[in-house]
Amino acid sequence: MITSVAASHAKGKFATDNIFGANAAAVQAVAKYGKDSVTNATIGALLDDNEVLVCLPTVEKVLRGLPIQEIINYAPIAGLPDFQESVIDLAFAEQKPEAYVKAIATSGGSGVIHHAIWNYTEIGDTVLTSDWFWGPYRVLCEDKLRKLDTFSMFDEQQRFNLNSFQTKLTSLLEKQNNALLIINTPAHNPTGYSISDDEWTQLLDICKESAKNPDKRVILLADIAYIDFAGEKQACRAFMRQFSNLPDNILVILGYSMSKSFTVYGQRCGAMIGVSSNKDIIKEFEDINQYTSRATWSNINRGAQRMLATIHKDQALLAQVDAERDQGYRTIQERAGIFTAEAKQANLKMLPFIAGYFLTIPAKNPEAVCNKLHDDLIFAVPLGKGVRIAVCAVPSRKIKGMAAKVAAAMAAV
Ligand code: PLP
Repeated sequence: MITSVAASHAKGKFATDNIFGANAAAVQAVAKYGKDSVTNATIGALLDDNEVLVCLPTVEKVLRGLPIQEIINYAPIAGLPDFQESVIDLAFAEQKPEAYVKAIATSGGSGVIHHAIWNYTEIGDTVLTSDWFWGPYRVLCEDKLRKLDTFSMFDEQQRFNLNSFQTKLTSLLEKQNNALLIINTPAHNPTGYSISDDEWTQLLDICKESAKNPDKRVILLADIAYIDFAGEKQACRAFMRQFSNLPDNILVILGYSMSKSFTVYGQRCGAMIGVSSNKDIIKEFEDINQYTSRATWSNINRGAQRMLATIHKDQALLAQVDAERDQGYRTIQERAGIFTAEAKQANLKMLPFIAGYFLTIPAKNPEAVCNKLHDDLIFAVPLGKGVRIAVCAVPSRKIKGMAAKVAAAMAAV
């Protein structure tokens, strides 16, 4: 009897998602012990202090107020022109580099990663990211018959490890002509780290060094999915100015996501923003990525695009959204602040957290630590080398005391 009819490249693939697995265990515990007794630190979405999913009120108002045709109709493959313009403004704010810049609508930030892998690496190539990374990067690479390699994100002093980055990039470009680098900053998932402006300068210098060879191309995908929860708007975008006047063989792509910025995770809308000093490279960027959109998902949610453009066009609405989001940012920072202070007291080593939805504790046996935490009805996500705590989802009252329990669980396993 046959057990598979799949094509050879698809055979044996299945998506294991330890995040949803950990969440399922928390949901079971809630059913048994009640919501108040359980700490569910697995969810990658902003929950309020009653653990209800937050929708920014102005986003809800604008979305619900759209004419039904603007919600149900198709959009152009590359996105509504208003959306394309607005999203560039929102992504860069006042930090737009001197370069040609174009945006196309994508299925969230995930869509950007998909297109970048497909269109800027060869089948069999390797994509480079940091060793702490969002798990789907690997699936996205492997499904497209690429590999994923990593550099060490932090050195012994917990500083961003530019040496490791340089070593890996140099050796990658000895083997292939295009190097796609996925750099998730600011407010990195899962650590909460943000690369400083000075580190950005050095990182770009390393890329420029590699790009001195005209046969080589560096495609730098800055995954900015958490940028609107990273701190002061201009300060956390200042690095983008450094994308001015780069050599022709360095293409920067910003991966912009509405999921967190507008709290519309399931609406599947984002943008791939190309930045180049060469007009032809940007024309090519528009052409090839639009083509891949047509071939992958056709067009993107019109309502979400219209909502973003409507908010962007109206100063008052935009200010309201910024203020509402800022409230969410401050809530998360307060939660992370409690955890960080208590971790210090408990001698619990964390990776350097600056902002964002998550913080991470390095651990030798993350699975065992997470299982041990179940005794305290605390649910977190085991990663390869650590435990991820979703501060975006846990109210401050439940964060209190958590670091000591994590420290105890680490000591017990
Ligand atoms: N990049 C990172 C690091 C993420 O954590 C996420 C979502 O969790 C994304 C990109 C993409 O999100 P979406 O496809 O919902 O926009």
